[in-house]
Amino acid sequence: MHPAIPHLIELQRVDHQMAVLRAELESFPKRLREADTKLSGARAEIASAKDALAKITTERKKFEFAGQEWKDRVRKYRDQSGAVKTNDAYRALQHEISNAEAEIAKAEDRQLEVMMRAEEVERRLRLAESRLKETEESLAAERKTIEAQAGEIRKQLEASTAEREKIIAPVPEDLRDLYARIARRHGGTALAQVREDQCRGCGLRVLPHIVQELRSETSEEVYRCESCGLILHSLEPVPYAKTAGGSAKAASPPSTS
Ligand SMILES: [Zn+2]
Repeated sequence: MHPAIPHLIELQRVDHQMAVLRAELESFPKRLREADTKLSGARAEIASAKDALAKITTERKKFEFAGQEWKDRVRKYRDQSGAVKTNDAYRALQHEISNAEAEIAKAEDRQLEVMMRAEEVERRLRLAESRLKETEESLAAERKTIEAQAGEIRKQLEASTAEREKIIAPVPEDLRDLYARIARRHGGTALAQVREDQCRGCGLRVLPHIVQELRSETSEEVYRCESCGLILHSLEPVPYAKTAGGSAKAASPPSTS
């Protein structure tokens, strides 16, 4: 096994840790956006209630105006009734008055209906406003929590970055490059343990002499799995393989591909 492998294993551990931290950090803006969505939902509810209330007010004014017009007519007819000369004309005026009074009653009924609807909408509006207030409060708390968590994670990332630099210091340049290249292609993982003669990265059988090489303290070779390309190591005791046959595939020496 190449003497730098233990450092690479440490590097892998720190890199995995950092990847988890970064993923968590990246999830925060999404969480904040989701929180904002709740807020705009509550605001839209208020806007719709206010809109409905404005329409109702317009309607109420219309009925008020109509009722007032009919009342004015009744007053005019009553003024005229003192001056009429014939019974027919008088009856005609009385008919107009009772007709106008019916219209006044109708307009008042409409106004009442509209006012009841307005009360209902006002209740809705108050409910929406208190919901918005609640949402704003819980969001402010959530935002605080998220920001505190993000700050903590940034601190951990800084510590990990410093740790990583220490770990990577003794690793030769070409091995750093190889590690980085493989990790990029394999979602951040560059190493695989060989256990029970198998690459734990993909399950491929590793030939016994390579297992031996991996366990040898004098070997300076870097071996990569022929199938998945990960750098092999065997830092745990690996039971000796009884058969060398079976799979013809073997781990290969390092390539620069
Ligand atoms: Zn493999």
